[in-house]
Amino acid sequence: MPIRIMGLKRHYQAFDGRVDALSGIDLNVSDGDFVAIVGESGSGKSTLLNILCGMDKPSEGRVLLDGECLTDLPPSKLALMRRSKIGVVYQFYNLVPELNIRDNITLPRELDGAEVNEQRLSEIMQTVGLAGRERDFPSSLSGGQQQRVAIARALYQSPALILADEPTGNLDENNADEIISLLRRLSMEQGITVLVVTHSSRVAEAADRVIRLKEGRVVEDVRKQAQVNP
Ligand code: ADP
Ligand code: MG
Repeated sequence: MPIRIMGLKRHYQAFDGRVDALSGIDLNVSDGDFVAIVGESGSGKSTLLNILCGMDKPSEGRVLLDGECLTDLPPSKLALMRRSKIGVVYQFYNLVPELNIRDNITLPRELDGAEVNEQRLSEIMQTVGLAGRERDFPSSLSGGQQQRVAIARALYQSPALILADEPTGNLDENNADEIISLLRRLSMEQGITVLVVTHSSRVAEAADRVIRLKEGRVVEDVRKQAQVNP
């Protein structure tokens, strides 16, 4: 899903004055790109992702996802766009502990009234390397496996865009590497546009493009050569 961001600003009214979380961001992201967003804590990375997934509104500026202006969409259409086109992955997985893996993955679609698509579910379990674990509960999985369930849940919605906020922040190196290569594969093989906020130099190495934020602005934007499949 191509993304256009124009003059994006987000201010917060904090206790001791105004905070400029985003101070004017202009970016285009191509369909199917794998983009790392880096920058120190407080530079605006999460704010940017929250606006892209429609959870937060900008103070100024526009965001076009697939040519549709997020900020102009009425709430019902925005919710639909979010559920049908955008998958979000967080640092702490956000799984429901009382539900097994299968139900965690299918819950969002079921809330929309959809029947479980068994074929799709089983394909996705294969993709994330968890086939056979459908009936297990999140607590029986490692952190890396739980994050793969969270990615599976995002994938089950057939997203054109995956937004991941520090998805490897809670994982050791091996598990982090698996998550990175999974996200990388999704962009390469399924053409999903992937934006990953990260502190990890390994994610940045795997990305097609690295965007650095500082104080709510883009201060670096490095595009790499097309990567050759290993
Ligand atoms: P990052 O994800 O890069 O660490 P954030 O996007 O979370 O940064 O935050 C950017 C800036 O906006 C920070 O100064 C932060 O304190 C501020 N901020 C974020 N959310 C809020 C909020 N809800 N209210 C006030 N200030 C906020
Ligand atoms: Mg953050």
